[in-house]
Formats: sequence, structure tokens, C-alpha cells
Amino acid sequence: MPSVVCPTCLRRNRVRKQSLGRSVVCTYCGAAFEAEESGQASQEPLSYGPQHSGEWQIAVGLIVLVAAAIPAVLLLARSR
Ligand SMILES: [Zn+2]
Repeated sequence: MPSVVCPTCLRRNRVRKQSLGRSVVCTYCGAAFEAEESGQASQEPLSYGPQHSGEWQIAVGLIVLVAAAIPAVLLLARSR
């Protein structure tokens, strides 16, 4: 059974597959929202599409760059 995350209270609701894409009511807070299956909640892990891998690599590269720059900046600051 797919699960969806309520945008109001951010809790996971289990919904029928037929309800996906339709308006459902959260069992926790009673808010109505459109059921969209979230990949992380699903039992079957979604594989990352190739169209996203480039963006991921750029993001990871930026993080590595920043992480590598911090010790260098600290060393520079110390040497002064
Ligand atoms: Zn809710």
C-alpha cells in the first residue's frame, strides 16, 4: 500500500493505490490534500533517473569543494 506525506502535519498516511493523484483526508489532522506517492515512504526504492544524476554530482561537488575550503581558510586565518 503506498503512503503519502500530509503537507500540513508531515505525517505519513497509507492510502489505496486508487487514491493516488486524488484528494484524500489526512487521518491525523483531517486536512485534505492531493495524494502523491513519496519515493522514500514506498517499500520499493525509486532508482534515481539519469536526468537527475548530473544535478546530484554538481551538488555533491559543491559540498566537497566547500568542505575542502574550510580547513584551508582556517589555516590562512591562523597564519596571520
Ligand atoms: Zn495531516
